[in-house]
Amino acid sequence: MNAKKKIKSLMGRAADACGLLSRDLSAKMVIVTFHRVNDRMDPDGITCNSTTFEAFCRYFRDHFTVLPLSEQIAGVRSGRKMGGTLSITFDDGYRDNAEVAAPILNRLGLPATFFVVTGFIGTEYTPPWDAHLAHQPGWMNWEQVRALRAQGFEIGVHTDQHIDLGTADPDSIRTDLARCRAKVQQELGAPPRWFAYPFGRRNNIRPASLELVREAGFECCLSSCGGVNAPLADPFQLNRINVGGWFTTPHQLAFEILLRRA
Ligand SMILES: [Zn+2]
Repeated sequence: MNAKKKIKSLMGRAADACGLLSRDLSAKMVIVTFHRVNDRMDPDGITCNSTTFEAFCRYFRDHFTVLPLSEQIAGVRSGRKMGGTLSITFDDGYRDNAEVAAPILNRLGLPATFFVVTGFIGTEYTPPWDAHLAHQPGWMNWEQVRALRAQGFEIGVHTDQHIDLGTADPDSIRTDLARCRAKVQQELGAPPRWFAYPFGRRNNIRPASLELVREAGFECCLSSCGGVNAPLADPFQLNRINVGGWFTTPHQLAFEILLRRA
């Protein structure tokens, strides 16, 4: 661990010990994002190993009210303040989500939402960001996605082709959103309700694209801008914190949450 991470981790531990953290959390609604939980890969920006993942999950369980994303959304929609709550999400639909992450979540009794790229599910597709890997981690198949839902997890979508809603033209966006909704309808028997946009930074979506997400029939739109949310946040402007290789300890993450303004 480098010095900066170590210091943040120590500060987080101190804030926790003196009660500062729990006071601060009561004013924030937190959504965290994972991508891969994989022991055969080195940790990177979107990969952590199962031991680290479990340590984060235990920390969430002990320091937050962990809720399904749908309950956070139902809460803010009905005007209920959702400070102190946290939901766990996964992007893209990697196979280890079903094989490694879900069993840990089940063992700890924690809910989660999986945002799948419908066009990747059940394929051997190699996305550009994984082109350098010697062994591809692989995607879930629809049977695994159905099994996750049967275990009580929520299934959202992350487009059909991982398109950039900041640059794609309106027709391509409409077509992609319609396609991912149709696939989920066909494979799971109901249309998807939750949407997280690919790449997740502010410039990866435009106001006009956000309108298309709303028009398509989704109940929310999530970014990965790294922020936390106000207790009464707009469901179409939800920030998430990506927990990849950068956060090596839960206390480091806690300190980061403390620094962010809702
Ligand atoms: Zn993604």
